[in-house]
Amino acid sequence: MSHVRSIAVRAPAKVNLQLGVGGRRDDGYHELASIFLAVSLCDRITLTAADELRVTVGGPGAVGVPADGSNIAARAVELLAKKCGLHPGVRVHIDKHIPVQGGMAGGSADAAGALVGCDALWKLGLGRPELMALAAELGSDVPFSLQGGAAFGSGRGERLTVLPVGATTHWVFATAGFGLSTPAVFAEQERRRRSAGRPWTARGIPSPRMSRKLVDALAAGDTGALADALHNDLEPVATSMRPDLTATLRTGTDAGALAGILCGSGATVGFLVSDGHRARTVAEELLSSGTCASAHIACGPVPGPEPEEIITTGEN
Ligand code: ATP
Repeated sequence: MSHVRSIAVRAPAKVNLQLGVGGRRDDGYHELASIFLAVSLCDRITLTAADELRVTVGGPGAVGVPADGSNIAARAVELLAKKCGLHPGVRVHIDKHIPVQGGMAGGSADAAGALVGCDALWKLGLGRPELMALAAELGSDVPFSLQGGAAFGSGRGERLTVLPVGATTHWVFATAGFGLSTPAVFAEQERRRRSAGRPWTARGIPSPRMSRKLVDALAAGDTGALADALHNDLEPVATSMRPDLTATLRTGTDAGALAGILCGSGATVGFLVSDGHRARTVAEELLSSGTCASAHIACGPVPGPEPEEIITTGEN
């Protein structure tokens, strides 16, 4: 009987503790000030050598995820293979748990996981700088998804500075029964700025700055101060597009969360809670209120994707 070698990788989601959105640049991207935290809500990606590149998607979050070459994990495999002059013969299976169009960078997590996993599968031994360069080509959030931990991201979010974290933070993530498209939320923010006669280009708006208050609270492990400092510029935009998100935010804080914040461009809402026990109470109340589709308990920071080798017997 033959032996089949696979690599499995856990790819964590992120929550933005701060998301400051500046004006639109000439290249179409926005200037961002983003404080990222990698959290323990993960997809699991399994990579196995095959004749050709194939993608399958399963798990509770699989709906709406493409199972073809447009999947960003497949694009990551192709990019790495092209850079190294290899044939991208890999079967990629994504066990999807990170909410799709949830503002938690689920696609970016899968791309980062695929880069790390293929590096191990093909025994390339590429260093983090080389993988980081490929990550930046794949998307603005992929470098952080590769790095994990906590970091400040400037530019379009891809220029990263590692941030110290003084204590583990506990979270509940409430998924909506719908997604919000990132480009649509940015477009709505621009429409609101223009219709209010406010500047909307990067030339007209000063670049957003990192929140010192938030960075200090994170470093000190002061969860109360962290809760006060959470801020997402896109939250009023997303809640104007989907007013039902306001009810979700209210339900979580009424249930005892220290603070609620829209994840990225939505539609998932994150709740910072004091501990794991409170997380369970908040998750149960959110679910029974009917203001969310599912509630996930998680903590952060967690490291970026790490490969794990699996040997099975049987057919490839
Ligand atoms: P972000 O937080 O980076 O703005 P998001 O979490 O809101 O992103 P994703 O779930 O990453 O959004 O995906 C957005 C779209 O990308 C999906 O609607 C889907 O069509 C496409 N997509 C491609 N590959 C993937 C993948 N591996 N996982 C999820 N979505 C994918």
